[in-house]
Amino acid sequence: MRLSRFFMPILKENPKEAEIVSHRLMLRAGMIRQQSAGIYTWLPLGKRVLDKVNAIVREEQNRAGAIELLMPTLQSAELWQESGRYEAYGDEMLRIKDRNKRDMLYGPTNEEMITDVFRSYVKSYKNLPLNLYHIQLKFRDERRPRFGTMRSREFLMKDAYSFDLTKDDAIHSYNKMFAAYLRTFDRLGLRAIPMRADTGPIGGNHSHEFIILADTGESEVFCHKSFLDRDIPGIDTDFDDKAGLQAIFDGWTSDYAATSEMHDEAAFNGISEDARLSARGIEVGHIFYFGTKYSETMGAKVQGPDGKEHTVHMGSYGIGPTRLVPAIIEASHDENGIIWPKSVAPFDAVVINMKSGDAACDTACDTIYASLSKAGFDMLYDDTDDRAGTKFATADLIGVPVQIVAGPRAVANGEVEIKDRLTGARETMTIDAAINKLIASR
Ligand code: ATP
Ligand code: MG
Repeated sequence: MRLSRFFMPILKENPKEAEIVSHRLMLRAGMIRQQSAGIYTWLPLGKRVLDKVNAIVREEQNRAGAIELLMPTLQSAELWQESGRYEAYGDEMLRIKDRNKRDMLYGPTNEEMITDVFRSYVKSYKNLPLNLYHIQLKFRDERRPRFGTMRSREFLMKDAYSFDLTKDDAIHSYNKMFAAYLRTFDRLGLRAIPMRADTGPIGGNHSHEFIILADTGESEVFCHKSFLDRDIPGIDTDFDDKAGLQAIFDGWTSDYAATSEMHDEAAFNGISEDARLSARGIEVGHIFYFGTKYSETMGAKVQGPDGKEHTVHMGSYGIGPTRLVPAIIEASHDENGIIWPKSVAPFDAVVINMKSGDAACDTACDTIYASLSKAGFDMLYDDTDDRAGTKFATADLIGVPVQIVAGPRAVANGEVEIKDRLTGARETMTIDAAINKLIASR
């Protein structure tokens, strides 16, 4: 992508409305624009990052055996009247009437709708286990939308729903998502800690919030320091291996970790003082086994091997991609801007032409841009007429992992400079060496 042809409205001034660094940087880098309170347009640079986050979420859901579909944002009130949540949900639900005066709503979540899909088609235990998910916009009329897309009213959620014949099978489904979440957040460059969350009347310990530690987080959290360097389940994880997944779950839940809602002071004080961590955190995911709560009221039953009808056991599993983007920035930035993990960077590298219009500089940049694009890199090429200082500041702000700087003096020697955004390390080398080094680093 040539910057001169891209749409990346950088802000020079610090936006006054932004209280936290991720919100400020997303506005300054031209990633998002607020359209009304808590409702955002994802501008092209932001959309690139969001797409990469979604791709990783999707890959790990698929790896764990979940199947993607797409449900609508607008739902009929009838389904929610069936489950009893139409009244119970309260002011967070946006209620709408269509032209025939039918009650509709903008979905804040999809348990009812997926249960309706399930009961319409699945009649036998032979079709289980089943886990269906989608990545779709939700609307919650939050009392206090704030921090940009961290807590917005319209936001994207990956929500998966599992269906099983028995509780035991449902726990296996839960453990699949538990392991998939560990892998997902790790690939996004984040250390997410599964913390015990409220299970309400269901009881048990099968509700976990995945929390990223950050000073700006809205939750107060308490955990053992061991979570900071635990092993993440590998790419070879066998999701059909019930015992193997149970061992991952047991290992990851053996030490204390809870948010303030579930905090047990005595248990926490049982940890040796130097291993106690009390901090603030951002909830980026939530998994929940809720038994037959919806399947019972909505009549989602299958025939079991015994020939009898069984109400299915369900779980739901959410991740917030539009919250993850600012969460990643909270975890990875410096005074000059964002530092993207490679996995979600909007571009893999940026070529900075320090003297656009200079024949030698243009040729060097064209060569690098073409060669690396051909090798599969997502390239940005700053071919604008901006001053060198502005170009450097922009490249640092938008956080692309590698900068390749072509200035007239170096190019006269057939050389360019490579700068690593994370470490700030710079290295001068020939144009060919630079291209080869980047390709080798993939
Ligand atoms: P919170 O406690 O932050 O309001 P929640 O418990 O209401 O979250 P869930 O219903 O479990 O959230 O939704 C699943 C995921 O969706 C959350 O883990 C989060 O990543 C994301 N999410 C929820 N609400 C918002 C929001 N208002 N803006 C952005 N993402 C959100
Ligand atoms: Mg909420």
